[in-house]
Order: sequence, then structure tokens, then C-alpha cells
Amino acid sequence: MRGVVMHAPGDVRVEDRPDPRIEQPTDAIIRVSATCVCGSDLWPYRGVQKVAGPTPMGHEYVGIVEEVGAEVGTVRPGQFVVGSFWASDNTCEICRAGYQSACVHRVPMGSLGSQAQYLRVPLADGTLVATPEVPPAGLIPSYLAASDVLGTGWFAAVAAQAGPGRTVAVVGDGAVGLLAVLAARQLGAERVIAVSRHGSRQKLAREFGATDIVTERGDEGVARIKDLTGGLGAHSVVEAVGTQESMMQAVHSTRAGGHVGFVGVTHDVAVPGMELFWSLVHLHGGPAPVRRFLPDLMRLIGDGTINPGRVFDLELPLDRAAEGYTAMDERRAVKTLLRP
Ligand SMILES: [Zn+2]
Repeated sequence: MRGVVMHAPGDVRVEDRPDPRIEQPTDAIIRVSATCVCGSDLWPYRGVQKVAGPTPMGHEYVGIVEEVGAEVGTVRPGQFVVGSFWASDNTCEICRAGYQSACVHRVPMGSLGSQAQYLRVPLADGTLVATPEVPPAGLIPSYLAASDVLGTGWFAAVAAQAGPGRTVAVVGDGAVGLLAVLAARQLGAERVIAVSRHGSRQKLAREFGATDIVTERGDEGVARIKDLTGGLGAHSVVEAVGTQESMMQAVHSTRAGGHVGFVGVTHDVAVPGMELFWSLVHLHGGPAPVRRFLPDLMRLIGDGTINPGRVFDLELPLDRAAEGYTAMDERRAVKTLLRP
């Protein structure tokens, strides 16, 4: 089969890779209908994260089940399925508490490489959620968004306690930040402040429900959010970048007693103890337990309530994956969808 392999920073190739096979009785093999490039794939692409030799890429996927292992009971060949970027049993104590991304048996899907024609999904019963019927082609981008960026933005909004009567600020205008805006509105927030300097992303943030846009970053961005909230700061702040500046903007933009939901993969972020101490904010975040939200999100997509697939502004055949990486690296595209 064809699949994306990163050889070194900036060097992404589509190559022949071995077809995946059932290795455990709990595995499923899916034929990938659509996959995509993640903002986190850009960290190794830019050399910020080390690439240890040729590495299969991708952890977002939707597809049709081809084959299941002997112990798989809840999904069957022919079904359209969505899974998250962690395979999880969905039965252990941590999963049952809603933290499937820390499942005691978790397997990172990134290690299997979903930017390919076929994919082995471990712990298929716990990991995959099937739609009632194979969906129309027009809904595939939205289901694919549920695999990571929508689920991650949703978790961030939940972690930040977005809800009725609350003002939510979202730091970061990548796909996750934009979908955190959508999530905050769906969860009932009255006011959603999006932090973005880019016209096209501001437009999408508004479409997803942002009521205010702040273009400043860092301390100026904090001051603007305070201006908009009577000097107090937002009740809920989503951090969806993962840099020192964005994390501190999020902490400082939150009012005393408020909540920060952080989902940007942090790189060299250190929160100074005294600033945290005096902030009086709640911090909750990490790799999103997307599986917790998948059934609800898939229902909202299926009935047309939400259209998160709008974040894909570039679509390419899998063989042209390298162009998709470049476009995202240069911020010409928010998110690239790849068709195997
Ligand atoms: Zn588990």
C-alpha cells in the first residue's frame, strides 16, 4: 500500500509500505477513506521534535472496516468508523472515568501511521465508533475532524468549563482553536473571544460562533481580553498552541476562580510558580480523551448540527501529501485533508 513516511525535517515522501495485517485478535484493519495532516506533525517537520529515521506519519483517520480479529465484537466489515489518535480498551478504570487517552492499554495511533491506504487499529472494540450507515461523501471531512481536532477542541472547552453564562477566550487559531470556538458555543457559552491575526481564520471563527476577535498576542492580548470582560478576564480560556507565550496569555487572561483548558502540545513551556500561585485559576489539559466525546460528536455531525469539516481548506490525493505539509508549514492552509 501507499503511505506517508517522514525521513527528516522537511522531507516527507509517499512510499510503498507493507499492508497491515491482523496481529492481535482485538485488531481491526480499515481501508482509510480520508486522513489528514495535524498541527503536531509540523513539530518534527520543522525539526523542533527529533525524527529518528524514516517514520510512518499520521494519527487521524476515518474508514471502512475491512477485516476484524477473532475477539472483535462491536464493529464488523463494511461499517464506516471513526477512531481517535489513541487506541484504548474503553473498559479500564481510567477509560471509564473518561480519560481514554491515558488508558492503561493505550496504543498511540501515530506509531501505526494513518496517512496511508490501510490502517491497523488495535483494541478495535474500544477505539472505533461506527455510524449507523455509511455516510454521504460530503460528511466525511466532518467525521475526520472528529478523529482529533474537533474532539481535542471539545475537550479543551470542557476542561475550561465552557457553558451558559460564561465568557470563553480561545488562544490559538489553528484547527483545534477554531473548533474549540465551535465547541464553546455548542456548550452554551454566551460570548466567545477568538485570538487570531489572520483574516480567513477570523472569518471561520465567526462562522463557528466567535462573538469577538482579539488580534494582539502576549501581554497586549491579555489586556484586550481584560478590556472585553470588565477588567476581570474570561471565565474559561482555551490554550491551543503550546508555546510559552500562548500558555501565559491563557493563564493571565483567566479571571480568578476561572478555568484554563490546555491542549496545545507544549514545547519548552514552564509556568512560573509565583504567577500560577497568584492567578487563582484551575488548569486542566493534556492529550484529549477524544473517545469520550466521539459518540455525541458523531451524532451532531450526522444530523447536521455542526459542520467541523470546514477547517479543511486544502484537499489533496495522498500521493501529494508533501504539498499538504508545506502548505500548513507556511500557514497557507489551516488543515490538509488527504484522500488515499
Ligand atoms: Zn482503558
